[in-house]
Amino acid sequence: MPWTERQQALLQAMGLRVWGAPSDAALAAPAAASETVPAAVELPAAHAALTSAPAVAPASAPVPAPIRPPVPASAAAPATAPAVLRARDPVPARSDLAALDWRALHEAVAGCRACGLCESRTQTVFGVGHELAHWMVVGEAPGENEDREGEPFVGAAGQLLDRMLAALQLSRAADGAPERSVYIANTLKCRPPRNRNPGAEEMARCEPFLVRQIELLKPRLILAMGRFAVQALLRSDEPIGRLRGRVHRYQGVPLVVTYHPAYLLRSPLDKAKAWDDLCLAAATVESGAA
Ligand code: URA
Repeated sequence: MPWTERQQALLQAMGLRVWGAPSDAALAAPAAASETVPAAVELPAAHAALTSAPAVAPASAPVPAPIRPPVPASAAAPATAPAVLRARDPVPARSDLAALDWRALHEAVAGCRACGLCESRTQTVFGVGHELAHWMVVGEAPGENEDREGEPFVGAAGQLLDRMLAALQLSRAADGAPERSVYIANTLKCRPPRNRNPGAEEMARCEPFLVRQIELLKPRLILAMGRFAVQALLRSDEPIGRLRGRVHRYQGVPLVVTYHPAYLLRSPLDKAKAWDDLCLAAATVESGAA
C-alpha cells in the first residue's frame, strides 16, 4: 500500500512502523487443533518478533458461546438489587431483534430501559459508520463525551483510534467505500456512571443489541478492543496480551484482539503492539480470510 507523506509522518509521530502486507505463505497458517477455533493467521516475521503471544490459537482457545437470550428483568432484578442492576423492562429477546433493520434496532436501543444505566445516561450511544463497512470495531462503553454527543469514541481515545485507522486509510465516515469503512460500536450502549467498568448483568442485557448489529453489518473483520469487548465476543477473561497476535472467530467472522485506545494513552509503549494488531487485521481482510 503506498503511503502518503502525511501518513508516514503520522506513523513516525506515533513511533510506529509502516505496514507491509505479509506474504501469502505467512497467511496460510495451518489450522489449529480445534475445529471450532479456526486457524490462526500466522504473523509475518516482523510481527512475530514484536509479540510474545503464540502465533497459533491453542486447542483450548475460547469459543464464543451461543448468545443467551437476555434474562427477563422481572426474574433477574429483585427489588433489593442495587440500583445498577435495577431493570425497568426486559430487553427484547434475541429472536425479537432478529427481524429488526438498522433503523428499528436503533430505535429499540434508544428506548431501552432494561438496566439501571438508563437512569443516568444522557442518551444511548448506538454506533457509527457505514452500514456495509468491512471492518467493525467493538469497544467498551460510552464515556462522558460519548454520552453527551451520542457517538462512540469521540474523546481522546477516539481520536487516537481515528488516527490509527486513518493510517490504514480507514474511516468511520458513513458515506465512504465499504472496504475502507469501519463501523464502531460498544458492548454497552449507555454510559456507566463515573466511567466505572460495565457490570456483568449490564453486559448480558445489552449484548443482544451488539449481536444484532454484527448480524446486520456482516463485517469481514471484527477488532475487539479491550477486555470487555473480548469478554462479550470471545467469552474469555484471558489478558489481552495473551489473546492478541492471532486471529480468533466470532460466529465465523475473523476477530483480532487489541488493546483499548484509552489504555494506549496511558501506556504508549504498547502502541507498537496495537499497530501490529491493526496490521494483522488488515492482512486478514486482504487475504480474503474474511
Ligand atoms: N471507550 C469506549 O470503549 N467506547 C467509547 O465509545 C469511548 C471510550
